[in-house]
Amino acid sequence: MKDHIIVCPFDEQLLAKLSERNVVIKSHDLNILQSIQKHLNKSLRLHAIKIQTDVPLSAISFQEDWLKLPLAIYSPEFGNYRDLLHQLNLIRRLNIRIFLSSEYDDNYTGLKILSSLNINCGLYFNNGSINWEAMNDLMHYAVYSKTKHAHIEPFDWLVSNYEPTDYMDYHSVYFNNPAKYLHVNEKEQIALNEQEMLNNRIIGDGIPSLDRIHVNEHYNDFINARYDIMLQMNECAYCPAFRICLAKFEHLTNKNDTCKVFFSDFINAADYSFKQRNSKRTKIWQL
Ligand code: SF4
Repeated sequence: MKDHIIVCPFDEQLLAKLSERNVVIKSHDLNILQSIQKHLNKSLRLHAIKIQTDVPLSAISFQEDWLKLPLAIYSPEFGNYRDLLHQLNLIRRLNIRIFLSSEYDDNYTGLKILSSLNINCGLYFNNGSINWEAMNDLMHYAVYSKTKHAHIEPFDWLVSNYEPTDYMDYHSVYFNNPAKYLHVNEKEQIALNEQEMLNNRIIGDGIPSLDRIHVNEHYNDFINARYDIMLQMNECAYCPAFRICLAKFEHLTNKNDTCKVFFSDFINAADYSFKQRNSKRTKIWQL
């Protein structure tokens, strides 16, 4: 079964072995886009390119050459709006999602600006702090606002895919949900997600073992971990929003004023959106 999308570095030998699979190429270097461009051919099934850069968004020099590339650019901060202004038309034409870190307060406003300018964007989480109030405000804007705006992730992904009786893993947005994505390095070692790869927690070796991943013990343990949490009877097991958070902020000491408030509002927004999508409302007669 070749149903997982493989997240890997740009390594020509590795990519040749992955030619039958959809891949996400990840890098920290924007200059790599030129090399990938040259490599684009029928044997590369490119799902996306993820670039995690240290450069602020406004200091990135966007290129016409990138028009054919499916891009997810992760930048730590929005930067100076004026510097970005002259690039907006080009950015809008790109197949791109721009992610900004949850660490800086200005980014929450920056994402609203990008979205209102019709640029798909999102928030990503690293080890830094989260402004829960600002994130809640951004989520409300993404889900409830009637003004025209582009997607803001992970909010749009979750409300679009939401099923009221199912578990949802919004880490799909970041190519980090092992049910859909697996990470492979140059040595063909397999990890469940980016963090696991960084921590050298390898669950398999060799490209052929990707076909046997569904019988891999570590893989199955991870996928089933959500059910184990429910049995642990801890704060997350009793949380009304567990289905969409999956205990991703289990490490927080104060959950009551942070993640619980946010995810409870988020699940309400997802329910609201689900009902809107599925309601057979009577159309009011209009002139
Ligand atoms: S929102 Fe907080 S308390 Fe609820 S499941 Fe997530 S981490 Fe646990």
